[in-house]
Amino acid sequence: MHKLLPRAILGLLLLFLAGFGTVRKTVGCSPVQETVARESAITKSRDSVSAASQAALKSLEASLASASKIAGVASESNVYETLESLRLVLELEPKGRHRFVLPRASNAAKFNAEQFKKALEAEWAGIKSAIQSLCEAVQQEIETADAKQDWELGYRLRWQLAGLNAILPVVVDPKRARNEPWSHAKALHTVSEGRKAFTNHPKTRWPANSYTVMTTTHFEIASQSDMKSTVEVASLSEQAFAVWKQVFYSAWAGKQTTAPEYAEPVDHKFSVVLFRDQASYRKALQSIADISISTGYYDPNEKIAFFYWDGAKTPSTLVHELTHQFFNEASANPVALDPNRGKGFWVVEGVALYMESLSTRGCGGSLMVDVGGWDAPRLQAGRYRRLHDKYWVPWDEFHWADGKRFREEEDIRAWYSQATGLAHLWLDGSAERRVAFAAYIESVYANKESTALLGKLDEDKALRDAYDRYLIEGPSAMGSRPFFSNRREAVLSRTKLSAQQLLDWPIEFRTTPWLDLSFSQIDDRLFVDADEQPRGWNLQRVNLESTKVTDASIPAIARSKNLSELDLSNCNVSDIGIQALTGHKSLKTLWLTGCKVTDASIAVLLSIPQLESVHLAKTSVTPVGWSKLLAAKPRLKSKSTAP
Ligand SMILES: [Zn+2]
Repeated sequence: MHKLLPRAILGLLLLFLAGFGTVRKTVGCSPVQETVARESAITKSRDSVSAASQAALKSLEASLASASKIAGVASESNVYETLESLRLVLELEPKGRHRFVLPRASNAAKFNAEQFKKALEAEWAGIKSAIQSLCEAVQQEIETADAKQDWELGYRLRWQLAGLNAILPVVVDPKRARNEPWSHAKALHTVSEGRKAFTNHPKTRWPANSYTVMTTTHFEIASQSDMKSTVEVASLSEQAFAVWKQVFYSAWAGKQTTAPEYAEPVDHKFSVVLFRDQASYRKALQSIADISISTGYYDPNEKIAFFYWDGAKTPSTLVHELTHQFFNEASANPVALDPNRGKGFWVVEGVALYMESLSTRGCGGSLMVDVGGWDAPRLQAGRYRRLHDKYWVPWDEFHWADGKRFREEEDIRAWYSQATGLAHLWLDGSAERRVAFAAYIESVYANKESTALLGKLDEDKALRDAYDRYLIEGPSAMGSRPFFSNRREAVLSRTKLSAQQLLDWPIEFRTTPWLDLSFSQIDDRLFVDADEQPRGWNLQRVNLESTKVTDASIPAIARSKNLSELDLSNCNVSDIGIQALTGHKSLKTLWLTGCKVTDASIAVLLSIPQLESVHLAKTSVTPVGWSKLLAAKPRLKSKSTAP
C-alpha cells in the first residue's frame, strides 16, 4: 500500500541554504586530536556522580509513581510535571541524547525556583538533600578532573554544577557556591532591554531608529521584530552557544585550554540579523540564489546569520544557522572548507540539522536543554525515509559529495534526512563514536576530509547496517525517556518499543498529536491499560497498521476527542470494534484495509459526520454496501479506496 509521507513531518522539512558565499581559503592545520584517551577517562570518572544521581532518582520513584496515578486530576498535574522535570534532570547523562542543565536568566530564576519548591512541598526535604549530594559529587568530580588536567570534563561539570545549583532556592553550601554563577554561566544573564539603532544598518540598509540592537555577552542582534521575540532570540542564542561549547568542546578549545576559568573561544560578538517576516528577509537578500526557499542564511564572509521571526519555527532555524556560525567563527583550527568543492559537505549540514533538535524545559531556577535523541523531528523524518521508503545514498557518493553537488541534488530533502540521521548515529552514540565524529567534522572544516577517522563505519554496508539498527532499536535500547518539549510527533514505526515501555513514559506522551506505531510490536495493553488511568490517550493522528491491536483497543482510541486520522490497516479489527467509532465527531480519515469488517460497519461509517476518506480494500464489505455508503456520502468518493 502506498502512503504519503506524513504531513506533520513534511512540514518540518524546510530547506536550508548552506550559507556559503564565495570561497574563502586558508591553510588548515591538522584537525585530529588525541581525544580518544581523554574520552575514556571521562567515562571512567563519572561513577560517583552517576551513583549520586541514581540515589536521587530512587528517592523520587515512589513520589512519581503516586503522582502519576493522580496526574489526570488537573490540580495534581503540576506536582507530577515538576517531579517529571526533576527526574529528567537527575538522569543527568541519559543515553542516546545530550542533556544540559543551565541556570536561567536571573530575574526568572528566583521566581521559578520558589514555584518549584512550592510544588514539591511534601517531598521537599528528601529532594533538597538528594540534589545537595549530587552537587557535592559533581564538585568532587571537578576537583578530580582538574587534577588530571581533563579540561573537557572539568568544563562540562562546571556547567552542570552551575545548573544544578540553580534548580532550587539556595540548595548548596553557600561557602562553596557563594551564590555567584560560574563566569561562563553568567553569559546567560546578560540579555538586556535593547535600544533603538543610532545608525543605518550597514548590510540590510535599515534606517537608524527603525530597528533594535540587543547586545549579550556573545551576540549582537539587529532586529526588526518586536522586543519580546528579540529577547527570546537573544536568550536562545546564548543557550545555544553554551550547549555548542559543551557538545563540541574540542572544536573550539583545541589544545590551548587553560583551567579552571577557560578562555572564551571568540573575541568578537556573533552578529545576528532578525527580519520582521519572510517577505522582508527575501526582499533584502534577493541577490542570493535560492533565498526564497530558505528560512535562514549564514554568510561566512560577512560573518552574519540572517533569519526572520517565524513563531514556533524560529528556534530550530536560529540554532541551525548559529551552528554554521559557531563552527566558522569559533573553531580553534582555521576554517579552510571550500563550500563548493570541499568533500564531506554533508556533515556541515548534518551537524546543523542535528543541533536543530535543541529543546528546552524548565526545572525550577534552571533550564534543561536536550540535543539529539530519537524524538528529534528531523531524525524522525529520516527514520521514515529510511525504514519506510528504504532510501539510501551509497556512502561513497554521499561523503564524497561537495557543496555544489549537494545543493544541485534533485531530492535534496532526502539527502538532508540522511545527513541528519547519520549525524545522530555518531553524536548520540558511544563516547568513542562522538570523539571520532568530532575529529571528522574538524577534518571537513579543514578541507581535508578523512573518513578514515570514522573507523569501521567508513564502509557502505557496515554503515548502513549500523544506521538501520540505530533507527530500529534506538528508541527502546537507549532506555532514556523522551524529552517532549517542541515535539508534535512520534514516528516509532518499525521500532522495537513495547506497550509497557510506552506506558512508562511521561503521561505527556499520551497527548502527542501524531503517533505512528505501524509495524511495531505494540498490542492492546497500550490503550486498554492507559484507559484505566486518569489520563488516557488523546491523539489527533494515529497509525497502528500491522500491529497486534484488536477490537479491544478501539473504545479507548475513540475517546480521543480530536482524533482526525486513524489507521488500522491489517489489524485484527472487526465490526465489533468499529462500533466504538459510532458518531465520532472529529474523525476524517479511516484506514481499514485488510480488516475483518463487513457491510455491518456501513451504518457506523455513515454516522461519522466529518468522514471524508475511508479505505476498505481487502475487507468483506460488498459492492452493495460500498454503493450505499457512497450514495449517502458522495464526497467520500474522491479520497477513498473501494473494497
Ligand atoms: Zn545549513
